Amino acid sequence: MGHYLTPEQRKEVEEILESKKDQLLRAARQSISEQVNAGEPLPADSIDISTDESLQVTELRLRDREKYLLSKIEKALLRMKTDPEFGYCTECGVEIGYPRLKARPMADLCIDCKEEQEREEKRLPDRRQEEERNSRSFFP
Ligand SMILES: [Zn+2]
Repeated sequence: MGHYLTPEQRKEVEEILESKKDQLLRAARQSISEQVNAGEPLPADSIDISTDESLQVTELRLRDREKYLLSKIEKALLRMKTDPEFGYCTECGVEIGYPRLKARPMADLCIDCKEEQEREEKRLPDRRQEEERNSRSFFP
């Protein structure tokens, strides 16, 4: 049974994911070097953002929203490599579709299930969600 995505389409979705990831990490590095530049002068080699260790620091410094996005991107990349069901809705199993994946490569739900999920989320009291988010970021 063949996958509805052609290898070329898969490749294209993968490239979109990789470039989104690059963008996020680049933006984070940029904001770190701005912080460094704004603060005390440091020896030029004390921050080497090209090593793996600094990459971890970079990831730690990402803001919550960026962290969330990055984890979605990495989850999608991992699914794409390991899960033969990538590209199918995790809720109902229908094809998510190439145009939707191109526009939203992190999507793991079809449009119908996504809309259903958003309706569910709107029914939850926003205030409680907000409070939970805040306490989570204070006590990770
Ligand atoms: Zn679905």
